[in-house]
Amino acid sequence: MAEITQLNNDAFVTMAMCEECKKPFGITVDKVSNGQYKFVWSFKIDADKAHREGYDATHVRGDVTEDARYPGCPHCGSKQWYICTNCSTIVCYHGQSYVTCPKCGTSGEITKLEEIDIKGGSY
Ligand SMILES: [Zn+2]
Ligand SMILES: [Zn+2]
Repeated sequence: MAEITQLNNDAFVTMAMCEECKKPFGITVDKVSNGQYKFVWSFKIDADKAHREGYDATHVRGDVTEDARYPGCPHCGSKQWYICTNCSTIVCYHGQSYVTCPKCGTSGEITKLEEIDIKGGSY
């Protein structure tokens, strides 16, 4: 984790879920500027621990990009992702046009959003 020592104070962790194995993982999100966020790191986590540590306490809205070092989903390795419009969970993505959220079961077509809502907790 030495590579992410340059995170600023507004960095936080958001919860995501792997589409393939339905296991949760955490994503470290760094704030670039107001309304601009960047995924910088990901790691396996268990859902109970995430809930205890308050990874759903922060709520931001903005445009998200991925850092060049972002390793992708720690379970399947995909660097692509989408966000469920129903439960706001970030889910790794494998290029299909029709998806089913592994967390809440909502399915629908992928649409491109300019801004997304992200929930997370302090890093
Ligand atoms: Zn995955
Ligand atoms: Zn969902």
